[in-house]
Amino acid sequence: PVLRVAIMGLGSYGTRVAEAMQSCKKAKLVGVISGTPSKIKDWQQKYNIPEKNCYNYENFDKIKDNPDIDAVYVITPNALHHPQVIRVAKAGKHVICEKPMALNAKEGQEMVGACKKANVKLLVGYRMHFEPHTLEVIRMRNAGEFGKILFFQGLCGFRIGDPTQWRLNRQLAGGGSLMDIGIYALNGARYMIGEDPVWVTAQETKTDHQKFKEGVDETIQFQLGFPGGAVASCLSTYSMNNLDKFFLNGEKGFAEMQPSTGYGPIKGRTNKGELKQPIVVHQTLQMEEMAGIILEGKQPVVPVDGEEGVRDLKVMDAIYEAAKSGKKIALKL
Ligand code: NAD
Repeated sequence: PVLRVAIMGLGSYGTRVAEAMQSCKKAKLVGVISGTPSKIKDWQQKYNIPEKNCYNYENFDKIKDNPDIDAVYVITPNALHHPQVIRVAKAGKHVICEKPMALNAKEGQEMVGACKKANVKLLVGYRMHFEPHTLEVIRMRNAGEFGKILFFQGLCGFRIGDPTQWRLNRQLAGGGSLMDIGIYALNGARYMIGEDPVWVTAQETKTDHQKFKEGVDETIQFQLGFPGGAVASCLSTYSMNNLDKFFLNGEKGFAEMQPSTGYGPIKGRTNKGELKQPIVVHQTLQMEEMAGIILEGKQPVVPVDGEEGVRDLKVMDAIYEAAKSGKKIALKL
């Protein structure tokens, strides 16, 4: 069986996913949802999409009556994920939603509830959860090759351009760098350590108050404490290019990855030597594996379901609270 997917939001990442899906065996792009008729036309031609599988943001509830679409992949600005995922669920289709799944944990929980009620699956676009170098480090950790894990460092950032883009608009982005790129360091801390944090502290710094308005964070550092005794120290920023590094250390050994979450080849080494896993197109592998999860009930090594998305949102809520109050926040995920 093949997972027949419609993409909602034909922007830069939607385009990347569509291209990558051309190499999938178990997933196929069959439909689009867009507010721009000219883009729909282009995509129809390029991907051979029939008129009856094309929708806009007003009429996409009608996808309910379309037996030729199994799932919708929501790839729109962050603030739209919550209402759009709930509408897709009500239309009875499985949903894949981009990160961050929503603007806060409350929204995320509502999305999980709506999908449960509609009996559809909800997955979050955590492409790193399928990436071979990442999975090898997780395998080594589980096999005890680093010993008891005590420290993780995650550094994620890029220098953001155009000040008018939605990523710098609080209403559409729900925050700043943490929502967009810092989430990789946070999510990475959780899958590299293999536990969920029990406390968080955070500090925000802003050098450009014009570009980064109230509620849009430029740089946030955060620290997480884990039940097994490990600590994580992370940095999220919109002001530095080529910041993409993970470092994990245990009592016996280490793993280091740089780049650690970018699209390009992930590179890394451990105390045992260089990591030599296959280089893959992240989005092709992700869609192939997600088709397996939705159609065959396959279980991923690191979860990509809505509950996983909510756990990150709970920590992000706490990071913002900690940065604002200066206090250490206790967490229960
Ligand atoms: P983008 O701006 O390139 O595309 C967003 C699309 O949404 C555009 O086509 C735009 O027309 C459409 N849109 C619909 N309603 C809109 C509205 N009200 N305002 C603005 N645009 C609207 O953004 P992108 O980089 O494709 O990001 C989209 C989502 O994908 C974000 O949630 C982002 O975090 C996520 N993303 C994930 C990854 C990843 O590696 N997993 C990478 C990039 C982006």
